[in-house]
Amino acid sequence: MSQASLEDQLERYRRLLSLSQVLTSTLDLFALLDLIVNAARDLTHTEAASILLLDAKTGQLYFEAASGSKSEEVKREAVPADSVAGWVVREGQPLIIADVSRDTRFFAQMDERIGFHTRSLIAVPMKVKDRVIGALEAVNRVGDTPFSIEDIEMLTTLSAQAAVAIENARLFHQSDLISEMVHELRSPLTSIVAYSELLVNRPIEPDMAHGFIETIYQEAIRLSSMTNDFLELSRLQSGRVRLQMIAVDINPLVDDVITLLKPQADERGLQIGSRLPAQGVQVIGDRDRLRQVIVNLTSNAIKYNRPGGSVSLEVEPLAELGHVRISVRDTGKGIPAKDLPHIFEKFYRVADTEGTVPGTGLGLKIVKQIIDAHGSHITVDSEVNVGTTFSFTLKMAQ
Ligand code: ADP
Repeated sequence: MSQASLEDQLERYRRLLSLSQVLTSTLDLFALLDLIVNAARDLTHTEAASILLLDAKTGQLYFEAASGSKSEEVKREAVPADSVAGWVVREGQPLIIADVSRDTRFFAQMDERIGFHTRSLIAVPMKVKDRVIGALEAVNRVGDTPFSIEDIEMLTTLSAQAAVAIENARLFHQSDLISEMVHELRSPLTSIVAYSELLVNRPIEPDMAHGFIETIYQEAIRLSSMTNDFLELSRLQSGRVRLQMIAVDINPLVDDVITLLKPQADERGLQIGSRLPAQGVQVIGDRDRLRQVIVNLTSNAIKYNRPGGSVSLEVEPLAELGHVRISVRDTGKGIPAKDLPHIFEKFYRVADTEGTVPGTGLGLKIVKQIIDAHGSHITVDSEVNVGTTFSFTLKMAQ
């Protein structure tokens, strides 16, 4: 080994060592995945790297994170079992492919879809003890020199540390969510227990008893919707949800949500309508989850409105950018400036809505998780006693 390559190798080991400390102390899963792919790319002197993880339930392998300019495109894409990563995961062995055009295991469709050209690759399994949880892959050596046994060693060491760190972060977030969940469920449960105890143990006037029963009923409904929201949130946060990205006609989806929620708006005497482009547009997204986003935002716009107010759902193609903006606008009570930075946090509710309007404080958190998973960003604009607008953009389908 030449002096230069020896030094290079020492430098790479140094990097690996300092990284291992960072990895074990990072519990933010997204930051962690970013760190790992960037390290994998640098350590192997390649153009890009990615992490593929197995879905524990379905056994499907999918892209969890990637470095480089195409990272958003590959995220959450499923990868077939007979691909390179599929082979590495199944065999639990590393693999080097010097020229992917000569190897049938290479999953060329992904390249075609995202407009990337893979020439060579190196992949190692990600293992926690003896269990393979996915694969770490790096592609296209800078300068096209061949991959060596040292590259495999380096990537295997990184991969072992990364696998443990990913498992830890997942477990941490699960337990975090569970304790918060239990905490939040306690308040409706306490009131159900207290009121039913009163009813069971004491003679109570029918009028008063009716009030108690009404409270028990409302709290039980709240428990039930909290349970559903928790389940949804825990799925979204665990990274187990894979979005079904397809071309979605947005106008009918909006009409659908309006039909669903019009009775609620009518009941409160609110106008509900839409502003849709005359020519329908298609966006790239997961239809059911986008529907859920629009339902959550619209039902908030109704819940937090004022007498005689209105709700408007708007779809606006931003032709020059190839994007579509979707907004839910209301003329409701608005959100105070001091609360605005917090409303996407789980369980956060504006103080004066607590106790007057039923809710779990999870709706907007779920909305944000879904929009983030689409590679987009949700924004809010609000003025007290004027109204609120939530907007996000989606990629237009070609
Ligand atoms: P929930 O509606 O169950 O309380 P969300 O997460 O959907 O939970 O909303 C969080 C909080 O943000 C609400 O409690 C409410 O105070 C505020 N909020 C959400 N949407 C609006 C809106 N359109 N207008 C005014 N306030 C809103």
